Parts: sequence; structure tokens; C-alpha cells
Amino acid sequence: MDAHTMTKPAVLILLGPPGAGKGTQARMLEEKFGLVQLSTGDLLRAAVAAGTEAGQAAKAVMEAGELVSDEIVINILRDRMAQPDCAKGVILDGFPRTTVQAEALDALLAENGQSINAAISLQVDDAAMVTRISGRFTCGACGEGYHDTFKPTKVAGICDKCGGTDMKRRPDDTAETVASRLVAYHEQTAPLIAYYKARGVLNSIDAMGDIDAIAADLGALVKQATA
Ligand code: ADP
Ligand code: ADP
Ligand code: ZN
Repeated sequence: MDAHTMTKPAVLILLGPPGAGKGTQARMLEEKFGLVQLSTGDLLRAAVAAGTEAGQAAKAVMEAGELVSDEIVINILRDRMAQPDCAKGVILDGFPRTTVQAEALDALLAENGQSINAAISLQVDDAAMVTRISGRFTCGACGEGYHDTFKPTKVAGICDKCGGTDMKRRPDDTAETVASRLVAYHEQTAPLIAYYKARGVLNSIDAMGDIDAIAADLGALVKQATA
């Protein structure tokens, strides 16, 4: 290898319906591999909280369980990818969600001389997603994700990671909104599985098991894809 060639930062994509466990697994991969988790859902919620123009436009759309416009999401993603910590490599969690976004990502990576190491599809059935989403809560201080049944805090009301007590539930994690989000997933996002398959970067894993078993499978896959 040329002495001036720099190792390219890894680019991993987690594909999967709402509640599949993308955020949970992305945070575990972040710790294990020193990568940066990039969640467009988190970035959009931050924009809504900050009341930026993009956030104001996104708020009602997110509450209805529909997809925010490609233009807004692509701009937010591009700005975030330009930040220096992303040079460690990124795990895209919840992006891309449409073919337009996937094409924009390909163009952005090409500009930077980067490419996708793997797009990993987390496979769960629709019933599991509803159960997962309806019990989801998050630590408001550090962002650690929990579940009433499947991943409770060790001490009720107190974050295992940071000791925070400000637990949050998302306004869109309701039974009605979940139905719209599933429709959006099947119509607009699921076609990306074929998109990445055609590019030879698709991997699928069974995401119906418990969190640690999935993390082990995913870890092995990521190790291989970033070697
Ligand atoms: P996504 O980012 O794909 O929407 P999350 O990672 O937020 O999904 O997970 C949704 C909810 O399900 C959270 O409450 C999380 O604690 C829980 N969860 C994640 N993975 C599993 C799993 N394998 N089994 C059971 N519950 C899970
Ligand atoms: P989940 O994984 O549970 O669906 P996210 O936190 O990824 O939740 O996304 C929450 C909401 O934010 C989505 O329902 C959608 O309105 C918006 N959103 C997040 N990422 C995107 C994206 N890439 N394109 C369009 N909308 C997005
Ligand atoms: Zn915390």
C-alpha cells in the first residue's frame, strides 16, 4: 500500500423498521469499535427542541409518523458527517430511509473518497416492533435507551449509565403513530434492501433474539466488514 494512503473511515448502515433495535445496537457498536453513531431521528429531535427552521418544519411530520423531507434530512446528515469526529467511522442509524437519500449518501461518500462497508438489515416481525416501541424510554441526560420489559433500568427510574433520573418517552411512540411509521417503512424504506443487495453490500441478521445475542452476531459481521 502507498505510504500516503490513509485508512478510509468505515461506513456502516443499520437498516430496519422502527423499533428493530437500530439505536440500541448502534450504541453498543460505538463502544465496541470506536465508531460514531449517527441517528437522523436524534438529530431531528435536537432540531425540533432547538426550534431551528428545519426543526419547525419536521415537528408535525414526525408526530404523524411520516418521513421528513429528503432535503431537510440530507442537509442535516451532510453537516453532521462533516464534523471531525466522523473521521473515526460512522454507523448510520435511521438513514437512509428513501432511495433519494441513498443516492445522496452515495454522492456524498464519493466526494469524500469513501464507500459503504456494509448495509445491515435487522429483521424483525411487525408484532415485535409494536411491543418494542410501546415500552421504549430513554435517559434524557445521556441518551441510553431502555425498555419496560426487555431492558429495564437496574434501579427503577435511575439510568444505569449516568445516574440520570429524567426518563423520556417519545411523543411518536404511540399505537396510532406506529401504524403510520410501519407503512412508511414498508413503502419507502424497505426498497433499500434491494438497493444495497444490488451493490453487493447487503447483510441481514435475525433481530428477534435478545439484545446481547444480536450484538454478538452484529459485532462479528462488523469486524469482518471493517477488516
Ligand atoms: P430503533 O432505533 O430501531 O427504533 P431501539 O434500539 O430504540 O430501536 O429499540 C426499540 C425498543 O426495543 C427499546 O425500548 C429497546 O430497549 C428495545 N429493544 C431493542 N432491541 C431489543 C431486543 N433484541 N429485544 C427486545 N427489546 C429490544
Ligand atoms: P425509529 O427508528 O423508531 O423509527 P427514528 O428516531 O429513527 O425512529 O425516527 C423518528 C422520526 O424521525 C421518523 O418517524 C421520521 O419522521 C423522522 N426521521 C428520522 N430519520 C429520517 C430520515 N432518514 N428520513 C426521513 N425522516 C426521518
Ligand atoms: Zn443516562
